[in-house]
Amino acid sequence: MTGRFAPTPSGRMHLGNAYAMLGAWLVERARGGRADGDGDARGGRMLLRIEDIDEPRVMAGADRWIMDDLDWLGLDWSAEEGVSPLWQTGRQAIYEEAFDLLRQAGLVYPCFCSRADIRAASAPQEGDGFVVYPGTCRRLIDDDPSAVRERLAAGDRHSWRLRMPEGHDPSGNTANGSTGSIVTFDDMIYGPQRFDLARDVGDTVIRRSDGIFSYQLVVVVDDLLTGVDDIVRGRDLLRSTALQIHLRDLLAGLGFGGDGARETADGAPSPRHPGYAHLPLIDNAAGVRLAKRTRSLDLGYLRSRGVAAEQVVGYCAALLGLPVRGGFADDVTTPEDPRFRPVPLTAAEALDLFSWE
Ligand code: GLU
Repeated sequence: MTGRFAPTPSGRMHLGNAYAMLGAWLVERARGGRADGDGDARGGRMLLRIEDIDEPRVMAGADRWIMDDLDWLGLDWSAEEGVSPLWQTGRQAIYEEAFDLLRQAGLVYPCFCSRADIRAASAPQEGDGFVVYPGTCRRLIDDDPSAVRERLAAGDRHSWRLRMPEGHDPSGNTANGSTGSIVTFDDMIYGPQRFDLARDVGDTVIRRSDGIFSYQLVVVVDDLLTGVDDIVRGRDLLRSTALQIHLRDLLAGLGFGGDGARETADGAPSPRHPGYAHLPLIDNAAGVRLAKRTRSLDLGYLRSRGVAAEQVVGYCAALLGLPVRGGFADDVTTPEDPRFRPVPLTAAEALDLFSWE
């Protein structure tokens, strides 16, 4: 099996990233049983991908910090030339190829809406930040394609959206994959999931108006091309998973990624899909997501304050629900709290405590 860490190098790693990475690392390292002695004999491939496609958000040097912090935590990854670590910058031609295939197949259309236009025409936003696009420019291109051509020729600013399948297929389907507008998958933590792409996801931007390919496209391309089949990440991406399964089906169906992308164990016509495990998001006592919290949770700060790597691992392991002896008080989620004394644990010790049951 092949897992991955896919951090965005927008700053120093914080406890929320360490938690997600420990989760991904434990799942992958626990694959294929335990080997005695040599830790390297355990588990599958663990790839490191630096998600630096969104250049305006990238902080120079953050990729080095991430690698240094992972070393410090003892969370290792496979070093494979050109595959891991993988930087998304420099892969423009590959994303371009995927985008062109979708475009030639008529699956994307230009969208001239501003954020304000979309907000005005949309239902209120849901908790995970997803705004289901109301379809304004889809109607425009379907009703009046020449008007769209004129606007493109005039250089009107536009993004590109992926056209979701229409309608609702009441029969659904049970395997991982998509049928019509319905996508189902079995999450290793949250169980069976079912999303209606038209209703729950909507036509999604895959290339922004500044020309940058969006996360949803590049993540699918990269996971597909690097053979990732084990995806462990935060619960806020559950809905994105439905979209990513669909997009993977589309790309594989268009021949992107070669035969490997279409291979299935039982010879079924749909492409092989990764397994998914979404981790509960971690909150502090006030219910504020750690990911959005202050600098005091970043690993640089913790390291400068003398917090040991084993304490960070022990803390994250307890949050992941591992039976860490002693644990810690549920409401102590900030290192500023004098009661913050997580039980130290090395990554290898955490792996010994980890099981799926
Ligand atoms: N770069 C994304 C993040 O840091 C990764 C999401 C994913 O694992 O697909 O949130």
